[in-house]
Amino acid sequence: MNMIAVSNAPQPPYVGTRLIDLIHRNTGSNELAHNARVVSQLLPFKVSQYAANYLIDWKQAPNDPLFRLLIPHKEMLLEEDFYFIEQALDDKPLLQSRITQLRQKLNPHPGGQLNLNVPNESAGMQHKYRETLLVFPKQSQTCHAYCSYCFRWPQFIGDKTLQIAMNAPQAMVEYLKRHPEVTDVLITGGDPLVMKTDKLKAYIEPLLSPELEQVKTIRIGTKALAFQPERIAFGTEADQLLDLSEKIVKKGKHLAYMLHCSHPRELEADIAQMAISRLLGTGAQLRSQAPIIKHINDQSDIWANLWQKQVNLGIHPYYMFIERDTGAHHYFSLPLIKAYDVYREAYIQGSGLCRTARGPVMSATPGKVQIDGVLTLPQGKALSLRYLQAREPQKVGIPFLAKWNPEARWWSDLTPYSEADKPFFEAQ
Ligand SMILES: *Cc1c(COP(=O)(O)O)cnc(C)c1O
Ligand code: SF4
Repeated sequence: MNMIAVSNAPQPPYVGTRLIDLIHRNTGSNELAHNARVVSQLLPFKVSQYAANYLIDWKQAPNDPLFRLLIPHKEMLLEEDFYFIEQALDDKPLLQSRITQLRQKLNPHPGGQLNLNVPNESAGMQHKYRETLLVFPKQSQTCHAYCSYCFRWPQFIGDKTLQIAMNAPQAMVEYLKRHPEVTDVLITGGDPLVMKTDKLKAYIEPLLSPELEQVKTIRIGTKALAFQPERIAFGTEADQLLDLSEKIVKKGKHLAYMLHCSHPRELEADIAQMAISRLLGTGAQLRSQAPIIKHINDQSDIWANLWQKQVNLGIHPYYMFIERDTGAHHYFSLPLIKAYDVYREAYIQGSGLCRTARGPVMSATPGKVQIDGVLTLPQGKALSLRYLQAREPQKVGIPFLAKWNPEARWWSDLTPYSEADKPFFEAQ
């Protein structure tokens, strides 16, 4: 086996000037390093040792998809915004005010995340769909590395008014007792596997107690498989995580790791495969989801390959998302029609086992909207849509139509096709 030597002690990730130095060292390009310095003033960046050493193909930079996933690059900003920051680099107060100004422009809280979904009772949770509660432990409001397209970037830049996080599991337990309709708890972040296993355990153990028998499913969202597979593959923390997983499964709960998996390369390393087989050995289910992102995974062959690899490794393809309208959306987004074409062309390449990935899906304010295809009707072309999840559950599963708009990149760009479709677009 072609083992990668990774020590047990977590190695510090690259951030700030060390990240800029890394880019310079590995690409030999002053320009790429300078551009990264400018862009990283505005958006958060962090690259794990593992990602720097084994994921990014530096020789192909900047066109390598994993470079685009992890490294700040000029094209992420509009040209005028890039120069706006670049010209202020040596003037701290000016730079700070320009950063604040531009960040507001980048739509830090898309989908009404702050005002609409947070239970009034306590922060650090999101209860949007009847049966599922999202939990954001404070200790997991970061990731092992950051995706350049991350929609949670405001949580990483230290602006407290933009963060959603809870301090301790008590609030979660109390909320669940008051809401017996919740059967699924999804622990998310950031990345919950950034926490020590003990901390994670503090959130999970109450869910296993008889008083919370209502909880049938525990999901843990993570990108550790791509960014820090040693967290799962070996060492004391990994062993404890696997023990915890086994315990959850033995209690009769469905345990699912929701793996954020953007590119097939993330699944290739021996250590990533070892992490997968160890998780599967605990009886946990593995499911994968990721947004479709221009310059990173916007080709059908990449998705077909990704889904096939996942099936081979024991991972169920779950969702293909559309990137939210935040951050560098202008650069990473694709027209909805294009995303649908990529999905379909990937879908037809694999067997039914690869076709468990639903998509492309927009996680929008009223719900999760899937794009089902294009219809040609007597009155013209239409986009066929349906809710997979909705704030109003009675809207789920009913086909409805939007006016054909080849430029549309997000839910807000769509309008009802006819009078009958209007209720599906009404703000909720
Ligand atoms: C996607 C999502 C869920 C989970 O939905 P499933 O379809 O059960 O995977 C729950 N809450 C929010 C806010 C979501 O976006
Ligand atoms: S893993 Fe998720 S939360 Fe973390 S940086 Fe990537 S997109 Fe953001």
